[in-house]
Amino acid sequence: MKKFSIIVLSIVVLGAGIYSQRGDIALRILPKGAEALLASNKIDTLGDGLHIALCGAGGPMPAPNRSGPCVAVVAAGKLFLVDAGANGLRNLGRMGYQAGNISGVFLTHFHSDHIDGLGEVATIRWAAGNNSTPLNIYGPDGVANVVAGFNLAYGQDKIYRNDHHGNTVAPLTGAGMAAVSAPLPAEGELITVYEQDGLKVEMLAVDHFPITPAVAYRFSYRGRSALISGDTNKSANIEEFAQGIDLLVHEALNPAMLNAMNQAATAVGLPNTAKIFDDVIDYHASPIEAAETARDANVGHLLFYHIVPPLVLPGSEALWLDGVDQRFSNYTLGEDGTSISLPANSSDIVVNSNDL
Ligand SMILES: [Zn+2]
Ligand SMILES: [Zn+2]
Repeated sequence: MKKFSIIVLSIVVLGAGIYSQRGDIALRILPKGAEALLASNKIDTLGDGLHIALCGAGGPMPAPNRSGPCVAVVAAGKLFLVDAGANGLRNLGRMGYQAGNISGVFLTHFHSDHIDGLGEVATIRWAAGNNSTPLNIYGPDGVANVVAGFNLAYGQDKIYRNDHHGNTVAPLTGAGMAAVSAPLPAEGELITVYEQDGLKVEMLAVDHFPITPAVAYRFSYRGRSALISGDTNKSANIEEFAQGIDLLVHEALNPAMLNAMNQAATAVGLPNTAKIFDDVIDYHASPIEAAETARDANVGHLLFYHIVPPLVLPGSEALWLDGVDQRFSNYTLGEDGTSISLPANSSDIVVNSNDL
């Protein structure tokens, strides 16, 4: 018994010693950890194919595990984003991607939650990424105004960083963004906004009325295809252009849950908040409607994103998805870090383990 007590005491003393040295130990481990982080590049680990990852799976409301809308697309060795919601770039870093590799951002529309991370994306992509040309921001007409505003807002920051780090690290030619604008496609029409190295990106109109322009993007690469909806009601145009594609990444909002939040806001005397909870229902698709689109377009897989409202209570995922299984069963409820790979010239749809 005495021997046992001595062993326990020794372990406690040793543990206390290590605990008191934890700062020094962290300092010794830090270089190795930083090396691993700085040398990591997720793109190099992905095989040839079309890869979709959620850097933000939520909407405008704060939600655990679901940041502002942000979808990463990797193909032909390049990284693109569809929208740049808050926290998306930071999630991308934690998922092993390098900001300097972002080749372009496709904006679906100009609601604040879809663009509020854009300044950070362009700045870190430049300052930490050795880029000597501005970041291309693709979008429907109006994108030039958004880009001009961000460039103005970040105009002083780019001078600070250039003064501090010099022309080799932070050349002024690489700061900010350049708008690449396209007219809003008519219903039934696709406009090709990017085509290079086998990757084609097409823009199509969606229904986010009264918000216009609002568009979706269809990505095609080496026999694989994915369509990212942006914000939309149930859309016949999406159903038409999603026919037979591998992956539909579709937004959704649960109306029953928003109605409950509307009642709660009314009950606590917040009529303006109650009105917003009611207003938003009419320009988003429900999970059931997104599932119907996936079913009727015969897509390979449905990935839900822009999930509204936040799913914070036990059972809320089941409530949000109520009725979906009866319409379409090949789906994933997205979270930050959810990713799906579509290997080139294959029919495989691989839901990867979460990167976060
Ligand atoms: Zn939105
Ligand atoms: Zn919107």
